Amino acid sequence: MIPPDHPRYRSLVARERIARYAGEGVVTFEGLAAHGRGEAFDYLIGERTTESALLAEKTAAALLLCARRPVISVNGNTAALAADEVARLQERARARVEVNLFHRSEERIRRITRLLEEAGVAVEKGEAERLLPLSHDRALCLRQGIYSADTVLVPLEDGDRCSALCSMGKTVIAIDLNPLSRTARAASLTIVDELTRALPHVTGACTSLSQEEALRLCSSYDNRKFLSGALEEIQKRLTHALD
Ligand code: ATP
Ligand code: MG
Repeated sequence: MIPPDHPRYRSLVARERIARYAGEGVVTFEGLAAHGRGEAFDYLIGERTTESALLAEKTAAALLLCARRPVISVNGNTAALAADEVARLQERARARVEVNLFHRSEERIRRITRLLEEAGVAVEKGEAERLLPLSHDRALCLRQGIYSADTVLVPLEDGDRCSALCSMGKTVIAIDLNPLSRTARAASLTIVDELTRALPHVTGACTSLSQEEALRLCSSYDNRKFLSGALEEIQKRLTHALD
């Protein structure tokens, strides 16, 4: 039992969840390591949504609202931490949801699909094909899902696949606490925030943005500004860490 008044309650609850889902075969050991890297960067940005990240979250909502065919790509860590949040975002953004895994097995796809469906997510199904410009199974995706999307939200994506999606002309929105990662730098738009804080902000903005504001955000954003906003925040915290 984690006491709710613990100063790092949310983080500890997330850690407990991810460990439990690793035991159930939803999250891989590699996924646990990736989560730890995220925790470290979250510490550096102060375990809160920065102003710059909030603007990135609004911009992500605008991109999803303006998309013809938005798709949310879900991996094991995302399903374990945020199945409910994905369900709410799917509804507001009218997006398709595809389970797409780095460490892919049919058994894991089934488990993650079940977990998402229990949370109310409508999951795309079908025969995955090698449609992305990548070697081996990492090229697999659904023709009616990620392959046909014009805008893809990829929480916690790997750098290579993020670049591959961009090279296909898609608008790629990443959620990644590490502003230095290849994913963060390759994406069209990067939200440098923790997944479970970021998704509700994106969902909320899907409801509150006017069409005018959405169009303005879509046509004026610059990902380098969001990345440098995150780096400045980290720098500031490091400089004043012992004050
Ligand atoms: P690159 O993008 O440079 O190729 P990578 O994809 O190999 O790096 P991983 O460690 O596999 O790096 O990816 C995990 C990424 O996801 C890390 O950058 C980590 O900061 C981020 N991350 C992990 N958990 C969360 C979370 N809950 N919310 C947001 N970001 C997270
Ligand atoms: Mg990455």
